[in-house]
Amino acid sequence: MAYLELRHIEKFFGAQHAIKGIDLAIEQGEFVVFVGPSGCGKSTLLRLIAGLETIDRGSLLLDGRDITALAPSQRDLAMVFQSYALYPHMTVFENMSFALRIAGRERADIRTRVDQAAAILDLEKYLQRRPKELSGGQRQRVAIGRAIVRAPKVFLFDEPLSNLDAALRVQTRIEIARLHRALGATTIYVTHDQVEAMTLADRVVVLRDGQIEQHGAPLELYDRPANRFVAQFTGTPSMNVVPVTALALLAEAGGHGGHGGDGGDGFVGIRPEHVFVHAPPAATALPGVAATVDLVESLGVETLVYARLDNDVQIVARGSDRSSLRAGERTWLSFDASAIHHFDRAGRRITPAPTLQGAY
Ligand code: ATP
Repeated sequence: MAYLELRHIEKFFGAQHAIKGIDLAIEQGEFVVFVGPSGCGKSTLLRLIAGLETIDRGSLLLDGRDITALAPSQRDLAMVFQSYALYPHMTVFENMSFALRIAGRERADIRTRVDQAAAILDLEKYLQRRPKELSGGQRQRVAIGRAIVRAPKVFLFDEPLSNLDAALRVQTRIEIARLHRALGATTIYVTHDQVEAMTLADRVVVLRDGQIEQHGAPLELYDRPANRFVAQFTGTPSMNVVPVTALALLAEAGGHGGHGGDGGDGFVGIRPEHVFVHAPPAATALPGVAATVDLVESLGVETLVYARLDNDVQIVARGSDRSSLRAGERTWLSFDASAIHHFDRAGRRITPAPTLQGAY
């Protein structure tokens, strides 16, 4: 039996069906990330698990115990909020120890737990400061520390990094990953940032419109997205997905349409790193397609070339070579035929994915 089990959980806000029957089994020690676009229901799902919203239908089991109707304080879970939610008039020590004091723990026990958490989070020097005397990153660490001291069965993080600047976000992300390795605690983490999801998760759960689109290991989702939505949600820039008819070359290369159903009028997808940019006219000997450069983004470590085919379809290519191409210049695109994805009219992956070796 799974450690945390969501059984067909549903939530309504008035007439709005926000969570539409979620089934999910989470193993002990697993780091699971809920990701999806704004409004998909990821925070609501986390709040249902935390007990901050009531579950309308379905049930929730933790370690074999039905906790569906229990108050948040009885669930043995600890939540870390985006807003930190620290008490401004309390010191770091008082903030971190608050829940333990309320629970009536012994002073010595409280001291030990707070000191241990402070050591893990590098907060020992700040225990007597108030939140306003701390940086955003330090405040977030206090919020995490407040969860750690409770030694909960599951940690719940709701977009914990979104108030931090880009550099601090990366650093805190690394700290959270390190913390998870050190504590081995079961963790559920909500974010709209797919890079955070891909880098932190053992398993990513992609949500859309109150339902799970797909869940799996980060690279499983990247390499074998179940549908067009997941394909385009993972990876930046996102996968090029075009109607079969708009890029017949790819469709033919991958044998699209030979798989029955409505594949013939579906979509083909190719990630930017599987599109190659060549200088015409010499390259026209290669299989490929002519295009006009819209934009070149030189990022140092990689170059993104946005090019427009003659039928107005835009394709983005990612390469590690620097490029002297300029907007408006003609170019030639070829594709790694073994990396083409096929989706039917409804956007579902056509499996088994047809593969051909070579460039097209
Ligand atoms: P975001 O990334 O923008 O925070 P989210 O995926 O976390 O989005 P939720 O906050 O879970 O989305 O919201 C899911 C849906 O439920 C949204 O359409 C939202 O408007 C609605 N919703 C959430 N909370 C409430 C509430 N308390 N009352 C009414 N509707 C709500």
